[in-house]
Amino acid sequence: MRKLLAGILDFHTKREAGSDLLFNQLAKQQNPDALFITCSDSRVVPNLLASTNPGDLFVIRNVGNVVPACCDHSGYSKTDDSEIAALEYALLNLKVKDIIICGHSNCGAIQAICDNTPLNTAPHLKSWLGHAKQALDTFDYPLLYDKDWSPFDRISQKNVLLQLEHLKTYEIVQSALRQKQTSLHAWWFDIEEVEIYAFNRDENKFKVINPAEAQHILQTSV
Ligand SMILES: [Zn+2]
Repeated sequence: MRKLLAGILDFHTKREAGSDLLFNQLAKQQNPDALFITCSDSRVVPNLLASTNPGDLFVIRNVGNVVPACCDHSGYSKTDDSEIAALEYALLNLKVKDIIICGHSNCGAIQAICDNTPLNTAPHLKSWLGHAKQALDTFDYPLLYDKDWSPFDRISQKNVLLQLEHLKTYEIVQSALRQKQTSLHAWWFDIEEVEIYAFNRDENKFKVINPAEAQHILQTSV
C-alpha cells in the first residue's frame, strides 16, 4: 500500500498540463475504440503495451482472460452477468469497433489447468477455470507455431482462440458481426520478449505485431 499511495502522490505532483486537459475532456463522456479482454495478471498492462491514453480502451480483466460461453438459447449467460454486462455496454452504448482477447505467457491460470492443480480451497477459481479447461482437453484448433513456445504457452494461445469462440456464442456479438460493426481479435503478450502477437487467420498462427502485421490487421478489420 505504501508504494501505491506514494505513486498516487507522485501522479498528483508530476502530472502534466496535457493530462489535466485530457481528463477534463473525458470527464463527461468516454468514446473508446476497443473492448480489451485480458488476464488479471499484474504484468499485463493494456494501456502501457498499446501506448493508449485514458479513454481509449474499455477493459475487462479476469483470471485467464476467460469468456464463459452463452448457456441457453435466450442468449443469457448463466455463469457471469458481470462480464457479459460489460460486453453489452461496450457494443450497445460505446459501439466499440474492435474486441480483443489478449492472453499472455507464463499465465498462472493456464498452468493451474495444465498441472491439474486441485484448488480444493478455491472452489470459485476452480469453477471459473473450467471455462478454459477445454483449451487443454478438447479444443482441437490446428494452430501452427513459429517459435518453440512452452506447452503452457501453446495452450494459452489456444485458450485465447477458444474464448473468442465463446464470445461468438452471444447473439449480441453475432449481430455486431453481421452488421460489420465490430471485428474480433486474438492477441497474446510474450512478457519476456515484451512483444504482442496477433492471431493471423490466413497463416493459422500468432505473429508478432510489426508494421506489416499491423497493416494486415487493419485490412482484415471492419
Ligand atoms: Zn494470466
